[in-house]
Amino acid sequence: MKWVYQRRRFHLALHLSFAGILVGWIYQRTIQTSLLSFFAVGVSWWFYRDSSSASYRIDGYLCLGRAKRAECDNLFITVSLHKHREKRSDWARFARHEKPYTHCIMKKYANLFGQFRKLDALTNLVCSNVSQITKTHYPTADTFLYFNEDRYRSLYRSWGENGIFNHKKNDVSPLLYGMLNYHIEGIDSGLRSGYSVQSSLVINPIEQFASEHVKSKYLDSLYSGKYVGCFGLTEPDAGSDPASMKTTAVEEKDYYVVNGSKIWITNSPIADVFVLWCKNESNQIIGLVSERTDQITTPAITEKLSLMCSPTGYIYMDNLKIPKTNQLNVRGLRGPFTCLNKARYGISWGVVGAMESILNIAIDYVDERKQFNQSLSSFQLIQNDLVHCIELYNHSLNNSFAAAELIQSFDDLDKHLALISFLKKTNCENALVVARLCRDILGGNGVSNAYHIIRHVMNLEAVNTYEGTKNIHKLILGRELLGKNAFF
Ligand SMILES: Cc1cc2nc3c(=O)[nH]c(=O)nc-3n(C[C@H](O)[C@H](O)[C@H](O)COP(=O)(O)OP(=O)(O)OC[C@H]3O[C@@H](n4cnc5c(N)ncnc54)[C@H](O)[C@@H]3O)c2cc1C
Repeated sequence: MKWVYQRRRFHLALHLSFAGILVGWIYQRTIQTSLLSFFAVGVSWWFYRDSSSASYRIDGYLCLGRAKRAECDNLFITVSLHKHREKRSDWARFARHEKPYTHCIMKKYANLFGQFRKLDALTNLVCSNVSQITKTHYPTADTFLYFNEDRYRSLYRSWGENGIFNHKKNDVSPLLYGMLNYHIEGIDSGLRSGYSVQSSLVINPIEQFASEHVKSKYLDSLYSGKYVGCFGLTEPDAGSDPASMKTTAVEEKDYYVVNGSKIWITNSPIADVFVLWCKNESNQIIGLVSERTDQITTPAITEKLSLMCSPTGYIYMDNLKIPKTNQLNVRGLRGPFTCLNKARYGISWGVVGAMESILNIAIDYVDERKQFNQSLSSFQLIQNDLVHCIELYNHSLNNSFAAAELIQSFDDLDKHLALISFLKKTNCENALVVARLCRDILGGNGVSNAYHIIRHVMNLEAVNTYEGTKNIHKLILGRELLGKNAFF
């Protein structure tokens, strides 16, 4: 980022010196100063044109694309001090969807403990860019209401171009991964679900447990976002208790024949790559990777009223043949749980991003909304609710930053089972309290999609359930901290 600062200073100096030459010519009017002045204006224009678009490549791997001048300014501002120059929301414009949604406009409450100052320029720059790209694909409140395959795939490809799926090569740290989830879920939990599934639940097991053949066949297309992946664990009769799954994989020659059904699978209706968990003839859980074939059908769950922009569906496998070379090198529940640990960690950050967005909307709203001749923000009862929400937000944010300090590498996740369950459970609970209270604070507008909070409420209900419900995480905490297994 130093480079951006220096270049701007250089431009300023250049413009000032040219202005000086111009003034000199106006006073003296000689041929030499006149020519010099023409030359000066030409060079000045050239540099100005150059500064209006710039291509960034940070540390040689995260291509942040060509950014227009306005976008550069945004990046510049975010990176420098998290200052914001957004005007106060105009709620009429907001309701007409002209102002899409407010997110990552750092208010005082969001930096109470100065946590964001710990982030380096690269983390800020990547997150800001990913946030902008995501908003470009989902610009208005309406775009979150229905799943649109073209829009969704195009976002995946843009994320892929920015390198955020490729954790191994790009060495995405737990902190950066957390912040990416924070920024994406600040926009919508359904989009963060898509990011979590592809990165933690599909790419992650293939990187860790798949054969070289499978890696070379699928990874590049998954990194680039050309392929969309899904993770099939939950079954109609096996949710919180995946060990009771009924899907079978029977060995035949050099392949497995898989039969069974999965339910509530994010991305399944459009997935190109399937990570499937089944039981072999020895009743052991194994993982298999398959591409879409005629033996896989994936109807969508159309009744869902949460995470609306994210596709969720079934997977029916009818004598599906998967080559043995596509088997993951892991046995038992360790396979799926290794993936879930990383996803749960990401979710615990994501919901804090949603809290920030919700608070931004509610705080702006109470300032502008008047009842009984006073703005809502001046009533003690409203302040009571908002301060409670701010406390919960800061608790969760602090928990997440503390966890990122402790978990230096994703290879260490197995050592932090209790911490991850604590984070997922507590942050989701806090996010739901914040979302429901702020929805109430907006009165009737609280249930309007134009004001976004009701969408976050509905989303967070699902986020609280998947990847382990509140009860399941309490049971994990009881087992890990009290040494008693109370699952059954
Ligand atoms: C939108 C969405 C997307 C999803 N995406 C995926 C995906 O991509 N891949 C995938 O595999 N799954 C996915 N899931 C499934 C999700 O992980 C399960 O819904 C979750 O694990 C809960 O399982 P269940 O719905 O069967 O509920 P159940 O297991 O039937 O639980 C019902 C209730 O009983 C409680 N309960 C269960 N056991 C106990 C116990 N021992 N003690 C006390 N209380 C208990 C639970 O806490 C819960 O409150 C998704 C779900 C949703 C809603």
